[in-house]
Amino acid sequence: MRPDFTVMTERIVRPVPHRIIPIADARRDRALPAAGGHHAGSDGPVDTLGRHLHDLRISVTDRCNFRCTYCMPKDVFDKNYQFLPHKDLLSFEEIERVARIFIGLGTQKIRITGGEPLLRRNVERLIEMLARIDDRIDITLTTNGSLLARKAQSLFDAGLKRVTVSLDSLDDPTFQAMNDAEFPVERVLQGIEAAAAVGLRPIKINAVVKRGVNDHTIVPMARHFKGSGHIVRFIEFMDVGASNGWRMDDVVPSAEVVRQINEKMPLAPIDPSYEGEVAARWWYQDGSGEIGVISSVTQAFCSTCTRLRLSTEGKLYTCLFASSGYDFRSLLRGGATDAEIAAQVAAVWRGRGDRYSEIRTAATAGLRKIEMSYIGG
Ligand code: SAM
Ligand code: SF4
Ligand code: SF4
Repeated sequence: MRPDFTVMTERIVRPVPHRIIPIADARRDRALPAAGGHHAGSDGPVDTLGRHLHDLRISVTDRCNFRCTYCMPKDVFDKNYQFLPHKDLLSFEEIERVARIFIGLGTQKIRITGGEPLLRRNVERLIEMLARIDDRIDITLTTNGSLLARKAQSLFDAGLKRVTVSLDSLDDPTFQAMNDAEFPVERVLQGIEAAAAVGLRPIKINAVVKRGVNDHTIVPMARHFKGSGHIVRFIEFMDVGASNGWRMDDVVPSAEVVRQINEKMPLAPIDPSYEGEVAARWWYQDGSGEIGVISSVTQAFCSTCTRLRLSTEGKLYTCLFASSGYDFRSLLRGGATDAEIAAQVAAVWRGRGDRYSEIRTAATAGLRKIEMSYIGG
């Protein structure tokens, strides 16, 4: 069967100019909407574009031991950068309470992220608390893999089901230029092996592709993991935050990634494994596995976006590109009941009309944007 590249047609996107927005300013709050009731037993709230609330991404720290140039560039996230003080972070008990409320509203999937989530002390205890709420909930974690070899077993024992590991290239100089922390490929590979060995499978491997930086290592990356059971997902470099100097010229469209791999190892498209899956899936025609491409720039998937993000300090963001969030920590610490908080979450979701990636044009250029390390990738 020949691959159908028509589904990968590239969209012309006008570049969003680079604009630095003071972090404190970008973290300002949105007023909470008037909350109606939420009726237990319904299928959960539906937003203004007909999307259900199915996924919650929880950022457990805004800190990271890497300085990936596309996420936390060193010149901004330097030694003077003000990370959140510990008292501002949601406690594990507060996170568990929020998770329970979300599950009551129909959330089926929880992803722990950051920053680097394995830097949050005792994050295994949080996983254990979340896993105990409802064993049908899909709990996953995204990590840069630096501490995974050490923590894979305890994470699995705590109830983590799967893990996504970020690894942008197998070529050491290329990878180290991207992580900007002199971190070698080998140690991430050891983390991936350890995770697979304890049963955190299948492993997804995220690779952000940047033009002229790691696009020459796409095929070797795909080849290395072909047949391993792990799924490499190539992600288009996105204009998240205000510090990574994003330019459209740096984006390698997913169609090009698929074309490069297909030339060497023939591919064919397959259906998403569930509604709202962000990656478009392609399998190797020889049956030796699959890859994914996440085309947030050239093939936006806002119409099926079912995600809410909870930042490290307890703000809810309805979109990765939101310019402000709703302060739920004040509700959690201010004596609101679970029912009141559920009603507020439902009201926020019902008012949601975000579709940033679909409308990414000069018209959205002036928007303040939150850094991904803070909001949770
Ligand atoms: N530190 C963990 C990690 O790197 O896996 C979790 C947080 S990180 C923000 C989550 C994901 O976002 C990673 O896979 C990372 O590669 C991706 N990411 C960060 N900045 C990005 C950007 N500008 N464009 C596309 N993906 C990005
Ligand atoms: Fe850290 Fe992940 Fe961002 Fe890289 S992508 S700087 S590892 S939070
Ligand atoms: Fe969802 Fe916003 Fe990304 Fe669109 S741009 S897919 S609404 S997070």
